[in-house]
Amino acid sequence: LILEEDEMINFVSSAQEQAALSQAEVQKQSIQEVRRSLPVFPYREDLLLAIQQHQILVIEGETGSGKTTQIPQFLMESGYNDGGMKIGCTQPRRVAAMSVAARVAQEVGVKLGNEVGYSIRFEDCTSERTVLKYMTDGMLLREFLTEPDLASYSVVIIDEAHERTLHTDILFGLIKDIARFRPDLKVLVASATLDTERFSCFFDDAPVFRIPGRRFPVDIFYTKAPEADYLEACVVSVLQIHVTQPPGDCLVFLTGQEEIETCCELLQERCRRLGSKISELLVLPIYANLPSDMQAKIFSPTPPGSRKVVVATNIAETSLTIDGIIYVIDPGFCKQKSYNARTGMESLIVTPCSRASANQRAGRAGRVAAGKCFRLYTAWAFKHEMEESTVPEIQRTNLGNVVLLLKSLGINDLIHFDFMDPPPHETLVLALEQLYALGALNHLGELTKVTYCSEEVLTIAAMLSVNNSIFYRPKDKVVHADNARQNFVVPGGDHMVLLNVYTQWLESGYSTQWCYENFIQFRSMKRARDVREQLEGLMDRIEVEVCSSGGDIVPIRKAVTAGYFYHTARLSKGGYKTVKHQQTVYVHPNSSLFEEQPRWLIYHELVFTTKEFMRQVIEIDSSWLLEVAPHYYKNKELEDSSSKKMPRKQGKAKEELG
Ligand code: ADP
Ligand code: MG
Repeated sequence: LILEEDEMINFVSSAQEQAALSQAEVQKQSIQEVRRSLPVFPYREDLLLAIQQHQILVIEGETGSGKTTQIPQFLMESGYNDGGMKIGCTQPRRVAAMSVAARVAQEVGVKLGNEVGYSIRFEDCTSERTVLKYMTDGMLLREFLTEPDLASYSVVIIDEAHERTLHTDILFGLIKDIARFRPDLKVLVASATLDTERFSCFFDDAPVFRIPGRRFPVDIFYTKAPEADYLEACVVSVLQIHVTQPPGDCLVFLTGQEEIETCCELLQERCRRLGSKISELLVLPIYANLPSDMQAKIFSPTPPGSRKVVVATNIAETSLTIDGIIYVIDPGFCKQKSYNARTGMESLIVTPCSRASANQRAGRAGRVAAGKCFRLYTAWAFKHEMEESTVPEIQRTNLGNVVLLLKSLGINDLIHFDFMDPPPHETLVLALEQLYALGALNHLGELTKVTYCSEEVLTIAAMLSVNNSIFYRPKDKVVHADNARQNFVVPGGDHMVLLNVYTQWLESGYSTQWCYENFIQFRSMKRARDVREQLEGLMDRIEVEVCSSGGDIVPIRKAVTAGYFYHTARLSKGGYKTVKHQQTVYVHPNSSLFEEQPRWLIYHELVFTTKEFMRQVIEIDSSWLLEVAPHYYKNKELEDSSSKKMPRKQGKAKEELG
């Protein structure tokens, strides 16, 4: 016995009989053979006929049946790109857009970026020659700004429609509208086997084309009791599968980069300890910020005698299909944006996934042979604690950006916009109010021009956009990394620290070596620079001047206050309380203001891990709130009962983050 009995997880099967597993045959096939073997292939002619006959078609097919990679090729092969017209295919996720485009370029036999390309925010891999363009749904939305009727497209495919991202939902409304006056435009709405009737209904009863899937039975196992630590449970389950189960690759669903990295490290570490007692286990992560060469690795075939385990976010639920998966481990969680219209707060929290998600995840085990899905929760929890399906993003997000985008497209009447599921009325009104309060809309609800101290704020905005991945903190050099980080601390708060990092990097001549020496992630900095350049370009286009405050940090902090005044927190016993709603929140232990604990703070975002943490905080003066948001704050709310700082807690240990 390699694993101790008490280390093992006790699973119970939902089915009595366990199907005997045959080893998945890893065959060397040519690309064309693989294409022909996909479920969509026999339906090529029927599908093309249906597209010819109908302007809007809903296409439903099991994940991995070839919708994303094959259908656009069918369209190209039958001349939909004649006369330089483009075929566009949207994906909710950046990784999917890149990875699928790379695959299709290979299948077509062209260089990525030539005839087949992709476009994601801050990265355009297309050229004059591109006729098949994969892109994120957000990018297609932006194209409406420059080409409101999408005149250069002959076909638009809204793929992964079942994901119901905010951008996809907005696209539905816009595309339905332009399809009316562009009868030559073909619209395909592609989805996994979910919700297709609703899409058909929304698009005036468009026909649904079903691609029958191939599916092998998947045995579902649940834990007998809830697992206290699902990360640890994942690690144990993978090893358990590896030593007790026949060959076949394994897919683990976790919620984000940090968890995935930890899980991979733990797995590698335990495999090292077990040494030659077990056969080789290849551990591969996949998440949005992973460099693309690493992303590609998950698709390479597993060498005989070894087993591959892919540790993924829910990107592997329906967006990406990895061949050869026989075992799925599902802890039952995902990271979700949630928005509280009453408090105006948006946060990213780890929540139980829906039953629909859990079933999609299980389905990944049955594509090539009979498979097994190990759910790290009880059958009771599945039935009683999980929601039936995921709530569309539009119902749980701040609509500020959407309102701005639609307004800039000239759509002023948002209340009557054709939403598939209209957002809550109060969320929409709140977004309008906030934009008015910010000075982005005037009293007629029209867009205004606003100038703040823009040079520094541009940098800060760019740095904030790279998603907390600036500082590098390898486990074996924690002390050095923390010292390096400490050296960047300047008064004012985390926004000022980010500005400082960027400025020093710029002065180093954007040096890689400098990043390396200072424990800064070069990739993230490069991305921040791209973001900054693009933002600067946009400002130039709308003629907003780029000007510096010349070393004065007050205007910068005021500008952040003007933009985020509804994210204000004040020091109170043991932590902070948000000003409007008295919610208890804490400064994130990574913050430069963790020790200092100033009276008044503005936070960039809230994250819930072990408790509600404010990430990226900046110190402000409460009087600024009356200056920048007099309509929102009353004098009384901002009164300080004492002018002294609260006594600092002695020796407060950094909290372990979950
Ligand atoms: P669907 O969109 O219906 O879910 P896809 O077109 O994405 O299906 O997948 C069809 C096949 O293409 C799958 O077998 C998948 O493994 C393969 N595939 C997709 N992307 C890649 C890639 N980047 N590398 C290798 N194979 C891929
Ligand atoms: Mg797909």
